[in-house]
Amino acid sequence: MSKIKLDTKAYKNNLNQIINKVGSKDRIILVFKDNAYGHGATVLAPLVRELGFKFCAVKDEREAFELVDFFEKILVLSHIPNGNENDELIYAVNDIASLKKIKNNTKIHLAIDTLMHRNGICYNELDLAFDIIRDKNIILLGAFTHFRSADILNADYFVQKQKFNATKEKIRNFCISQNFQNPIFHSHNSAGLERVYELDDELVRIGMSQFGYCQFNNSLLLKPVLSLWADKVSDRVLKAGSSVGYGAKFTTAKDIKIATYDLGYGDGLLRYDGIGELFLANKNQILGTMSMDSFSCIDGGDSVCVFDNATVFARYFNTIEYDILVKLSPFIQRVLV
Ligand SMILES: *Cc1c(COP(=O)(O)O)cnc(C)c1O
Repeated sequence: MSKIKLDTKAYKNNLNQIINKVGSKDRIILVFKDNAYGHGATVLAPLVRELGFKFCAVKDEREAFELVDFFEKILVLSHIPNGNENDELIYAVNDIASLKKIKNNTKIHLAIDTLMHRNGICYNELDLAFDIIRDKNIILLGAFTHFRSADILNADYFVQKQKFNATKEKIRNFCISQNFQNPIFHSHNSAGLERVYELDDELVRIGMSQFGYCQFNNSLLLKPVLSLWADKVSDRVLKAGSSVGYGAKFTTAKDIKIATYDLGYGDGLLRYDGIGELFLANKNQILGTMSMDSFSCIDGGDSVCVFDNATVFARYFNTIEYDILVKLSPFIQRVLV
């Protein structure tokens, strides 16, 4: 059976690198959305709880409920308000309409649109937001923004930082006037953390760097956590002149021993079309098109490592590591090693 192995040592190394840069694990919100970027949220959660992390962010309530036993605080990033919000969770509020719809007395972090124009309320909507928060006794615990180009060295980052600073000031004053607790603020994701030297008083929201992939390749020494393994289904000799797989995209010039392994695009891999050269971790090459539930290659024994670094597949498919990892089927068994 195919398997995902999670390298505990690499994961702890990455977390320590991040803690060293941030100063304290209490200032880290671990982003566990989309099954912890395909790594397996409920497999990693007991480990990070043991390591003392208390705060995570997820996509929706379904993901949050899986993790309630492991984190003290869970921020739900993409919730669509329905008036039935849960008192245990903290909800990101992504526009004024959402603030109007969300249940009274709900705990929230306000998303602030400082340039990305994806989610969040603008600086000039803050007074309106404060009125609604007051009317509905909403519990405003914090606010955050998201950098649209944290991984690109241009001016956007500074423009957004300035706007967010102004917002923070206004929210701080509102909270004081309402006798609310001190609001918490966060803006940096992984790329933001890599480029920043001064975090002020903020928390950070760390997704990808915990899993071992840098955006700038400099300030953090990270190691990929996930490796993907496939098991042999069958093997055979492919005679010279014969082809393997749909459409006969690979034909061998000499007799070779090939094997078929139990992972395909139905398990979340992007479909290899048999035309370019896509290599597995041991430099073995996928031969012919990938099937829904299998691929073939030179016989590599009972089990082969498909990748232990998602960059190989990301480059081949002209995409980013996030896209490769997050698609891995939740039905593949995850084990900590
Ligand atoms: C996904 C996400 C993050 C984490 O981003 P990384 O690049 O993986 O660190 C942080 N904040 C928000 C709002 C996100 O959606």
